Amino acid sequence: MAITKVWLDESENECTMCGACEAVCDAVFEVPEKAIIKEGVDFAANEAEIKDAADSCPVAVIAYAVDGSDARAN
Ligand code: SF4
Repeated sequence: MAITKVWLDESENECTMCGACEAVCDAVFEVPEKAIIKEGVDFAANEAEIKDAADSCPVAVIAYAVDGSDARAN
């Protein structure tokens, strides 16, 4: 079960730009204004931090999928 996709699962621009995801996992997340997922990151090498960032997001928009799936796993 390796994380192969990370995205912001938003329906109404919910990201509050709080910066929590970047504080927990700056290898993957950046919050210049609204949070973005960095390009070319090895998600599998940052799994624990990605999960911590998803748990830290106050509006629960950080989503990830595993093993090549497009379905949200969290
Ligand atoms: S933790 Fe969530 S709300 Fe905060 S900047 Fe990251 S994606 Fe946005």
